[in-house]
Amino acid sequence: MSTGDTEPTALPWEGQAYSVKRFGISISNCDSEPVQTPGCIQGHGALLVLRPGDLCIVQTSENTAELLGHAPLDLLNQPLHQVLGAENAALVAAFLQREPVECNPLYVLTHPARGDAAPLDVTVHTVDGAVLMEFEATARQPNSEQDYYGLIKHSVARLQGTLTLQALGNAATAEIRTLTGLDRVMIHKFHTDGHGEIVAESCRLDLPSWVGQHYPAQDIPEPARAVFRQIWIRPVREIGAPLAELVPLAHPQTGRALTMTYCVLRAPSVMYTEYLQNMGVTACLTLAIRRGDTLWGLITCHHYTGAASLPYGLRAACELLAQIVSLQHESAEQREHLAYRLRLEDVHRQLVTEAAKNSGLQALVEASPTLLDGIDASGAALFHNERWWCVGLTPSATALTALTGWLREHPDFQSPTRPIVATDSLMRDYPEGAALVGVASGLLAFALARDFRSMVLWFRPEVIRTIEWRGDPHYEAKVFGSHGHRLTPRHSFALFTESVRGCSAPWKEVEIEAALRFRMVVMELIVSRAGQLAELNADLLRSNEELDAFAYVASHDLKEPLRGIYKYAHQLAEDAALSAPENRHRVDGLMRLTLRMDSLLDSLLHFSRVGRVALQPEEIDLNEVVKEALEMVDARRSERPVEIEIPRELPPARCDRVRVREVFVNLLSNAFKYNDQPLIHVEIGYIAAEDRASGLAWPVIAADHMIYYVKDNGIGIHAHHQEQVFKMFKRLHGRDEFGGGTGAGLTIVKKLVERHGGVVWISSEPGQGSTFYFSLPSIGAI
Ligand code: ADP
Repeated sequence: MSTGDTEPTALPWEGQAYSVKRFGISISNCDSEPVQTPGCIQGHGALLVLRPGDLCIVQTSENTAELLGHAPLDLLNQPLHQVLGAENAALVAAFLQREPVECNPLYVLTHPARGDAAPLDVTVHTVDGAVLMEFEATARQPNSEQDYYGLIKHSVARLQGTLTLQALGNAATAEIRTLTGLDRVMIHKFHTDGHGEIVAESCRLDLPSWVGQHYPAQDIPEPARAVFRQIWIRPVREIGAPLAELVPLAHPQTGRALTMTYCVLRAPSVMYTEYLQNMGVTACLTLAIRRGDTLWGLITCHHYTGAASLPYGLRAACELLAQIVSLQHESAEQREHLAYRLRLEDVHRQLVTEAAKNSGLQALVEASPTLLDGIDASGAALFHNERWWCVGLTPSATALTALTGWLREHPDFQSPTRPIVATDSLMRDYPEGAALVGVASGLLAFALARDFRSMVLWFRPEVIRTIEWRGDPHYEAKVFGSHGHRLTPRHSFALFTESVRGCSAPWKEVEIEAALRFRMVVMELIVSRAGQLAELNADLLRSNEELDAFAYVASHDLKEPLRGIYKYAHQLAEDAALSAPENRHRVDGLMRLTLRMDSLLDSLLHFSRVGRVALQPEEIDLNEVVKEALEMVDARRSERPVEIEIPRELPPARCDRVRVREVFVNLLSNAFKYNDQPLIHVEIGYIAAEDRASGLAWPVIAADHMIYYVKDNGIGIHAHHQEQVFKMFKRLHGRDEFGGGTGAGLTIVKKLVERHGGVVWISSEPGQGSTFYFSLPSIGAI
């Protein structure tokens, strides 16, 4: 509502009880109208409000003189038998003792006719500590009791015979129209956004059908919906007929307005009356369709040809039908969805079995069936192990990653009871979704772990729909009067066609529930796999340790005899100096071999120690570590000029200082060694997380790790050899080429990085230089 409007200074009924008859026109909008305490009843009936203890009359409707033969003021403070006679008053007292009438009006007796007037049906109920007694002309013909029981028995049988929701709706509207004789009976379903749609109807043949038409949410405002969560039935005998006010308007003792929620005679609100009059309705009956505590919709009955008499028995029959429709409705929907649910669950079972057999969750998108067979969608994406696995039509990896930022914050995603986001219009809540409408107007998503590191998303594309509104859904009319502005109900019910964009086919409840069940099973699978992995890791660790111990012992023990061989060769060399030159050459060869064997054993010993010695992680400044490593490698000893570039300061890491220095020493010395350029160029740097999303296929890296690199302009390594070079003693060159080496350096680098929980890999092409990447725990890591 616009802020420039002048608000009325005070509500005109302020300080006293409200009366729709007296103050109705000054209502400023329908949400502020006190629909449950209108202070008036429909004038064709009468109301007595009694004190519970002695059934003394404390309030009456103003029309009791005409209907009951006593003016209101003559009845106040009088005992009930003044109106009913002693016998019937005693009957009412006994009835109230016996029957459950709290918020539940029940027929108690028929008050005999006075002169020409019809006999009156009397119903009673209690609410807020008051007894409300309603009188209404009976429709019973003397001696020809309507057989409502017989009628309802047939109606119930017909409803129970229906198999689908649509058939149930059709049968219910037909049965209620037969029972009541009203001109149009409709089933009005509430959509999740509050607007209504007519989904079934039975009407007079000469009337146009309204099935498929939509009604703006404000047509049935929240206060009216709140009432239908409490009552089943709401009759209005004649729209616009005179109303009768309560005398006195407020309760004489409490001063409070009378709660009339359960009163059958309750006067309709101003807005409701105007709304129906604008539609040409002369009488109406409304029944609730509930699903547990939620109001699923209404059975709305319109009459266009005068008043409609809906006596107690008929109303009770309709009320029973509304309750049966509510019950049947849920089971009909479940039955209708059963086949689909079973199919979904079957696919989900296959998916999980495949994922359990296979190497991982990616089987959900890579094997057959896929996630796409599991729910009727056009694309599905799995985020797992820090990367996306997609099937069908999905947004790009960048758009997916951005979307997860929004998802993580979504309250439904974090909900402890129903952790799933289901929307048929992503762009409605997520503005960036406007660019994705063709692929992802609809989104169904859940996370597989509390830290949201794994999630599953399904997508549906836009489906442009045409909605037929009965009247302009964007209408908000106001009239201005002495009490400021007020809203008026619509006058126009002309068809208004709107085409809706940015929406997909909606997700059915059965799909959402199947997705939630699927989530549970996948989570169980993850937990059990984590258990298996932990066992496997422990086994590997054990065998690695054993291998390291073996290598240590073996190389240690081998060094001893090797020293013996060397000593012996040395003696031979001295003797050979005296003999022929070819002997001398052989002995020199033997000595060289033993020296090489010795350095190989040193490498092996060192390697096995790297595997066994405990790390001492601490917060370290990598810039200092690199400086020390460069000093150790001593580039100045290189024959060619060396240029070192560090584009930006390296962020600190949480590592074992000595071991990380060793990593840099190995990588730097290789960068200098395997280089044939006149100017050796080496770059040392790191890749921040935000730079990683740029499309390169990064290996799986722990979220709290940082990637560092050493890049050279050297000879490069062919893709075939990039795995090989990390193997023990594997060299790609002749023994003495490029300054020689044992081939253990990179194996040790790999081991050191892995002991920190990191990974190492190469990006290189022959002749194009090499980049050695490795990840290490960053400072936030524990
Ligand atoms: P070593 O240098 O002792 O031979 P490494 O394990 O350090 O052993 O390296 C294994 C092999 O990988 C080397 O023999 C070399 O062929 C290749 N290599 C290592 N670093 C580089 C590099 N920066 N550029 C090209 N090749 C390299």
